[in-house]
Amino acid sequence: MAGEQRVISVFGSANMDLVAYVTSAPSLGETVMGRAFHTVPGGKGANQAIAAARAGARVAFAGAVGDDAFGTELRAALVDAGVDTGLLRVVPGPSGVAHIVVEDGGANSIIVIPGANGTVTGPDEEAAAVIGRSRALLLQLELPMAAVVAAARLPGAEVILTPAPAVPLPGELLAEVDLIIPNEHEAAVITGAADPGEALEALLDLVPEAVVTLGADGAIYGSRDGTRLRQPAVPVEAVDTTAAGDTFAGALAVARAEGLDARHALRFATAAAALSVRRRGASPSMPSRREIDRALA
Ligand code: ATP
Repeated sequence: MAGEQRVISVFGSANMDLVAYVTSAPSLGETVMGRAFHTVPGGKGANQAIAAARAGARVAFAGAVGDDAFGTELRAALVDAGVDTGLLRVVPGPSGVAHIVVEDGGANSIIVIPGANGTVTGPDEEAAAVIGRSRALLLQLELPMAAVVAAARLPGAEVILTPAPAVPLPGELLAEVDLIIPNEHEAAVITGAADPGEALEALLDLVPEAVVTLGADGAIYGSRDGTRLRQPAVPVEAVDTTAAGDTFAGALAVARAEGLDARHALRFATAAAALSVRRRGASPSMPSRREIDRALA
């Protein structure tokens, strides 16, 4: 990234999503006929980078892909969305993949196989320099935990963590996080509280700001300064909720970087996420800034 302009950095995974559409997902040992199959660029890191770029930010993505055809496609998808891939490394072996099953109505289940993502040990020197100059650093948990912690420890950027997949979070990571954005399930795993309101309060014992996303029920926000907000979802017909959470996180980072207050930033993110569930796939479903602005007008 040239010059001193402040960007949003994303340090995370890039996966090729292998998406099967079915009426009802098979249980263990069962075989079902699907209706359609698509390969779609994804991975929580790449998704958040593309969501933030579409939502109007300058975005740098750091991570790794394999030296296979999926790796080439993943880079091309990021470049297409306007993301700077100068920090995306190519490593020998396969790229990460995610097996995704989408049921009628939009619910999904996912298996991630890390591939190149699993080889990442932390931001290299060049990536660390860019992250240090960034306004925000978006992290998720599809890279090895030690790599995520190393990125979070870098000085400079506001650290925004999507704690997915849901795993126990080390204190050394939580100590660096400014804003955490779990969904209901992840919030329950982290805090042990099944009720999202209670989970939000427990999260604020761990980090200064938290958002718990509630799917079709929207999101709740809390800050240690005492602010509590509830943002209903924008009602839409859900076609595929894959990456709704990533769209939400990317858009929220953009809104905060532009200086919107918590209420307006939540509104912006909720509008972007709702637009994404109306369309199929991860990155292809993410709305442009023009679409988000139109939805909010
Ligand atoms: P995913 O894992 O599918 O990416 P998630 O489980 O991380 O999503 P959710 O809480 O399901 O995250 O959704 C994130 C945000 O997306 C919600 O806060 C909401 O604003 C929006 N959203 C999700 N589902 C719907 C829906 N059916 N209608 C409208 N908005 C939705």
